[in-house]
Amino acid sequence: MPRILDGNRVRDDIKEELKPRIQALSASGRPPGLAVVLVGHNPASEIYVRSKIKTCHDLGIYSESIAPPDSITTEELLGIVEQLNAREDIDGILVQLPLPAHVDTKRILLAIHPAKDVDGFHPYNVGALVAGLPAPRACTPAGIIELLKRSAIPIAGKRAVVVGRSDIVGKPVAMLLLHEHATVTICHSKTPDLPGVCRGAEILVAAIGRPAMITADFIQPGATVIDVGTNHIKDRAEAARIFRNSPEKLASFDKRGSLLVGDVDPVDVVERAGAYTPVPGGVGPLTIAMLMVNTVAAAEQRRGGV
Ligand code: NDP
Repeated sequence: MPRILDGNRVRDDIKEELKPRIQALSASGRPPGLAVVLVGHNPASEIYVRSKIKTCHDLGIYSESIAPPDSITTEELLGIVEQLNAREDIDGILVQLPLPAHVDTKRILLAIHPAKDVDGFHPYNVGALVAGLPAPRACTPAGIIELLKRSAIPIAGKRAVVVGRSDIVGKPVAMLLLHEHATVTICHSKTPDLPGVCRGAEILVAAIGRPAMITADFIQPGATVIDVGTNHIKDRAEAARIFRNSPEKLASFDKRGSLLVGDVDPVDVVERAGAYTPVPGGVGPLTIAMLMVNTVAAAEQRRGGV
């Protein structure tokens, strides 16, 4: 049986390690502060924001949720970001994506002060990532590296293949793996012979957004497989096919009306991989943990280190 890389355990360790740093900041004046801007009513975004705010609360990080209506203009949202940039008690600003189509997302992300950009999406911080300079790193990619390191999976000298080239996951995780001295290949929808390229990977990262696309023929026996995908399956027949008619999974589907599945085939990965991240419970929990790390680090940085 392959090793299961337990994201919940690593998340809990990271949160425990943050507590004394948060206490030190609180004792020296005020706790770290995170502002989360959630525009409109996107149910998935509302769930993410709620769990970010709850994690702040659990850790003793001050958090504020700002919820302007869907009708907000780019200029009005820029005004909110500027106010947060100027606030002494706010160390981190997160604008939950996606924004409504009429809002200029690039302008909004560019307006966040790079020192408060706890999502690591500002071009200044992307440049710092490429240059290997200290700066907030994108949370999901940083979480993947933490998970590999804390699970004692060697990265240096390994062949890593990342499927997906988004600014949020694929590109930054490839860069972080490169900084850890992996030999990295980035694949996307135009890559020929994707299964063959993936089979060359000792570390395979799937950040695609296509349910169970990575099947046995993509996986080198013994590889470490990191599944970033979060796909909600609402078709019972598809759920039955992906989970090979598993009675427990189908019972869960019947209860909830959907099932969460990653980009990696959940049955094939168990048969082929040496280690893998389950969905749920793998990469997912680390994203919020790394957001907390970035917020605490931003607070320390702004106070000249504590
Ligand atoms: P994007 O849609 O931005 O990017 C998907 C990437 O996958 C693109 O580069 C695309 O290629 C590539 N791709 C799509 N189809 C194929 C294909 N058939 N063959 C090869 N490559 C393909 O997605 P994200 O990076 O934002 O997210 C990826 C997944 O990760 C999603 O399921 C998302 O929900 C999940 N996610 C999970 C997080 C977590 O905390 N667990 C956080 C963030 C994302 P091309 O560029 O050529 O179009």
